[in-house]
Amino acid sequence: MKVRVDPDLCAGFGICVGLCPEAFELHDDGYATVLVGEVPAEFEDMVHRAVDRCPARAIFLVDDSSVD
Ligand code: SF4
Repeated sequence: MKVRVDPDLCAGFGICVGLCPEAFELHDDGYATVLVGEVPAEFEDMVHRAVDRCPARAIFLVDDSSVD
């Protein structure tokens, strides 16, 4: 599983970073970036939670089978 953040949608609330700092960090420009390529299995639950809780709906899961 991969995850991405749309910087145009992200409003920099940082909820994703608070939930899973192993996978997300806040960029200096005020939006979140993804730190990992493939999300480690132990962080998948937290990443799913971040997707659900992001107020801007800016986090997207990427199905591995559809990745370039
Ligand atoms: S929770 Fe959503 S809006 Fe907030 S920093 Fe993360 S991606 Fe951006």
